[in-house]
Order: sequence, then structure tokens, then C-alpha cells
Amino acid sequence: MNFVHLIKLLPNLLSGDKIEKLEASLILGIDIMTVVDPVCKMKLDEKDVRFKSEYKEKMYYFCALSDKKKFDENPEKYIEP
Ligand SMILES: [Zn+2]
Repeated sequence: MNFVHLIKLLPNLLSGDKIEKLEASLILGIDIMTVVDPVCKMKLDEKDVRFKSEYKEKMYYFCALSDKKKFDENPEKYIEP
């Protein structure tokens, strides 16, 4: 592994766009799965997510408890058709 390349990729792991993040995760061998909070549309790393809801056998992820509550109250409003 190229150390300089690794250093260059590290910021992408934290805040890069999806493609760069994917590249970084592949090179570093880290499995990063990006999920989208259906309430506020924020991108989240699956491993960092603390708030989840299962609805119709699908898992949804939230950045905050308040978003999870909104979703739980009215899931249909936030689900993409
Ligand atoms: Zn959110």
C-alpha cells in the first residue's frame, strides 16, 4: 500500500463524496456503507448510525431520534415510491 495515497484518501473517508469514499474504502479495505436518512436526506455511514427503524422488512436509518420518531409516526410520508 502507498502511504502517501493513504494519507490523501483519509479526508475522503470522513467527508468525501460517495465515489471518493467508495474508492477510499476499497483501497483501505474498510467496508463503508452509506445510507440515507429518509427524513432529512442526510448521508450517513451505516456503522455510525444509532437510530434505526424497520418498516415493511426494510431497514431505515436516522441521524437523530427526532427523525426516527417522525418516521415511525408516518413512514409512508418518507418512503420513496
Ligand atoms: Zn436526519
